[in-house]
Amino acid sequence: MNYCNACGGPLIMKIPEGDTLLRFVCARCHTVHYENPKIVVGCLPEWEGRILLCKRAIEPRRGLWTFPAGFMEKDESLEEAAARETLEEAEAEVEISRLYAMFSIPHVSQVYVVFRGTMKRAAFGPGAESLEVELFNREDIPWSKLAFRVIHAILERYCKDGPHAPAHVGTISSPSQP
Ligand SMILES: [Zn+2]
Repeated sequence: MNYCNACGGPLIMKIPEGDTLLRFVCARCHTVHYENPKIVVGCLPEWEGRILLCKRAIEPRRGLWTFPAGFMEKDESLEEAAARETLEEAEAEVEISRLYAMFSIPHVSQVYVVFRGTMKRAAFGPGAESLEVELFNREDIPWSKLAFRVIHAILERYCKDGPHAPAHVGTISSPSQP
């Protein structure tokens, strides 16, 4: 961020009065530009005991597997975002059934909110951001080829859980931390 999106003035880093953290502040109109974590919404699309995963066609981690997930848009609910990502990435329609997991990833300023979804029919295909889309039995999940640690952590729990397990809340710490 270099310029103020309110007036076009130059931004400086400072701690605003009454605040405790460094912020981007406009040197001209004094607007404080807050930066907050982004919400990534995901879906575990299920069909007759199997789970639908996508091989990423885009960087980062092109060619590795994930469940449908992406940044929440303005003007949509979490459930709508989860269903939309599933349709976009896996061309599958889901009924969002329940909240499955919430993971904080502080070092990248993201929060993952993941739902279980029941596919309405066994129809799916690679959307623009996917190379392949496939239904996996739990024992066939490609563990060594998953895109992100958070995907691994969530799928690992998912495989141990029964269908009515309560939602998980967790934190993925920075890779440099033990
Ligand atoms: Zn300004």
